[in-house]
Amino acid sequence: MKQTLRADLLRWFDRTKRDLPWRRTKDPYGIWVSEVMLQQTQVDRVVNYWQRFLARFPDVRSLASAEVKEVLGLWSGLGYYSRARNLHRAAQAIATTHAGELPDSVDALLELPGFGRYTAGAVASIAFGLEAPLVDGNVARVLSRLLEIEGAPGEREREKTLWAAATALVSGERPGDWNQSLMELGATVCTPQNPTCLLCPVRAECGAFIQGRVGELPPPKKAAKRKRLELHVAFARKGREVLLARREEKGLFGGLWELPSTEGALSSALGKK
Ligand code: SF4
Repeated sequence: MKQTLRADLLRWFDRTKRDLPWRRTKDPYGIWVSEVMLQQTQVDRVVNYWQRFLARFPDVRSLASAEVKEVLGLWSGLGYYSRARNLHRAAQAIATTHAGELPDSVDALLELPGFGRYTAGAVASIAFGLEAPLVDGNVARVLSRLLEIEGAPGEREREKTLWAAATALVSGERPGDWNQSLMELGATVCTPQNPTCLLCPVRAECGAFIQGRVGELPPPKKAAKRKRLELHVAFARKGREVLLARREEKGLFGGLWELPSTEGALSSALGKK
């Protein structure tokens, strides 16, 4: 099954893949930046940001020597700013310890700030052609349907099974294209709602399709418990100027500017019992 599945999906990918600017480069740095930007962000939004970022910071060294506030400025509007800070930190680490070149091994990539298993797998496979697996939301959904992997998103056993499946499937020719083809299928055909199975290039190998279980897999994620947050905000003005403070780097809204605030009930914020 593995060989047929790989051949069918790669053939489909070659025929239908979207023409994206980072797919036209072989530069590991450009591929890395695209992978970081694409996390939690739609492809359409990333295109312009990636082009502007690469125009201003064309390589690791130019990014490493920039001021973090300029990096954050170019990231402005893309959200999840810790990604930009980690990108900057990782560029500095690469400039110092790897002579400005991204290392071509998963273990060395995992040592860098902001690199988790997904990013290391993406850079290793797409930029360096290594048989490194990756699992993101799209891949998890596709694999759970193809292989009828049970369990809700976030469950540990399911995650282990997904990574094991991704590891088994990535070995073979063109591992980077294989990983991209899984992500592409999840983004365009095997979507969370109403997947277009009749247009799917691997429906003959898909367990959920054959068993009529597409609507059941994956089951919905268990809702996270909401945490109530009380925040007290001070507003201080002098003429036309307003006092702003920068939040701690770590934690909620890390590093962002805001009106000075304090968390907790008003009595504890004022130091009363
Ligand atoms: Fe997804 Fe349907 Fe294709 Fe199976 S047949 S992989 S459920 S789109």
